[in-house]
Amino acid sequence: MEEHSNSIATHKTKFNTICVFCGSSSGNRKVFSDAALDLGNELVKRRIDLVYGGGSVGLMGLISKRVYDGGCHVLGVIPAALVPIEISGPTVGEKRVVSDMHKRKAEMARLSDAFIALPGGYGTMEELLEIITWAQLGIHSKPVGLLNVDGYYNSLLALFDNGVEEGFIKPAARQIVVSAPNPKELLANMEQYTPIHEHVAPYNSWQKEQLGGH
Ligand code: AMP
Repeated sequence: MEEHSNSIATHKTKFNTICVFCGSSSGNRKVFSDAALDLGNELVKRRIDLVYGGGSVGLMGLISKRVYDGGCHVLGVIPAALVPIEISGPTVGEKRVVSDMHKRKAEMARLSDAFIALPGGYGTMEELLEIITWAQLGIHSKPVGLLNVDGYYNSLLALFDNGVEEGFIKPAARQIVVSAPNPKELLANMEQYTPIHEHVAPYNSWQKEQLGGH
């Protein structure tokens, strides 16, 4: 398909750009690759641009290519150390090289209206947890979605529930994480998201330092 063709029916969404965190591996089962492609299709259908980690390996590669082929903008934000082609592979779309992982995450957060985590490993979980924490602190108020493909994240969600049960996570802050088993449901839930938790510090006190002064 050509970059700017748009053969899929579009429908309105409140998000222009979504940041997707996902594995640099594809996982052992086809269901994970299918979910990455499915999410890519849903973004294209809604004309939502993609911000991601800038690699062509694993689920990152699958979703970025699908969104790019569907004619939406793809921006990969990648630390210089991961740029070599033998590490990240040949990528599609626009590439923004940053100096380190902290800058990468701040840039990804700044440029996006919402976040979605697909299945992944430590890297994905770290990105997810950081963006949840930033919502809790009041750094942003953007929806954070967890695509719980075939129950991959059940134990993480159970850990969050246990955090509430044991008094380490406030019940209202538990609502920051919006999860669903498929992209369609997830995006619909994220569109309904309204923050109900108290911010630890006011938004204005964070903005300049945390998100590069934007
Ligand atoms: P993981 O979930 O552990 O596979 O890590 C996924 C995240 O780690 C991605 O979103 C990237 O931020 C980063 N990452 C790991 N390996 C690579 C790679 N080869 N190229 C680009 N980014 C990578």
